[in-house]
Amino acid sequence: MKRFLLAALLLLCQSGAQAALKVVTTTPAMAALTRAVGGEHVQVSTLVGNDRDAHMLQVKPSMMRAVRDADLVVAVGADLEAGWLPEVLASAGNPRVQTGRPGHFEAAMQVERLPDPPSSGFSAHLHRYGNPHINLDPLRMAQAGESLARTLAGLDTAHADDFHRQAAAFRAAVEARLPVWRESLKGAQGAVLYHRDAVYLLDRFGLKLLGTLEPVPGVPPTANHLRELAAQLQGQKGVIVQAPWHAPDGPRQLSELTGLPIRILPLDPPADADGQAYLRLIDAWVEALAAGGTP
Ligand SMILES: [Zn+2]
Repeated sequence: MKRFLLAALLLLCQSGAQAALKVVTTTPAMAALTRAVGGEHVQVSTLVGNDRDAHMLQVKPSMMRAVRDADLVVAVGADLEAGWLPEVLASAGNPRVQTGRPGHFEAAMQVERLPDPPSSGFSAHLHRYGNPHINLDPLRMAQAGESLARTLAGLDTAHADDFHRQAAAFRAAVEARLPVWRESLKGAQGAVLYHRDAVYLLDRFGLKLLGTLEPVPGVPPTANHLRELAAQLQGQKGVIVQAPWHAPDGPRQLSELTGLPIRILPLDPPADADGQAYLRLIDAWVEALAAGGTP
């Protein structure tokens, strides 16, 4: 009986040691990456859905509660969440996930970033570290996934091999899809973006950024800017892409002036996405960008 109790106790301890890490991510793309790399060893929740602008969020008590219990916070970083995440971290009172601690990870800071033009001065768009929107470049995401594997391994050493293997599998899945995406985009010219949120995707596939609806990051389009942009775009092929939360008037006017089609696409997969669902989001973007190839 004593031996049985001891064995039961040992089992309990072991299962305790193997409890999944509680990971809170800011955006669904970060959640998808964490699920891809962490697999069964992580329990992931995300603070924002893919229907909201992750630059500008209202801080809610539910966010602090989620972060209070977290073993790890995974953010896009590079100031993308600068308008609200610092307040959530400060109020959550969880020392493990503060900036600079082992339980704090910023994906954009793990990869080479593209520059952004000077900002409008709005703090939510003050991109000191370059453009933070790395999540639409599948290869940068794969690289960030490898860094995330090291972070997860530091927090759960027993499963280090699994994290590294799963990060490698995610990279392999991305690399396997690259030729398909390249083939679909043959002949595509480029895109007019509302915000500079898909520049990494355009850059990855050699497509041109034909312009932005925002005259400067964070500032909605003005009539003057739209007229100038339309004049520049005369005779160009391409597609106008906006996120679901961007006001439709500017894109509609530009489309009327230029004849370019409009596509509305989220920047993130659904909140419950895994690595495969992330790849399907890139599929949707590739399909939309390819639509700009035909006159
Ligand atoms: Zn931005």
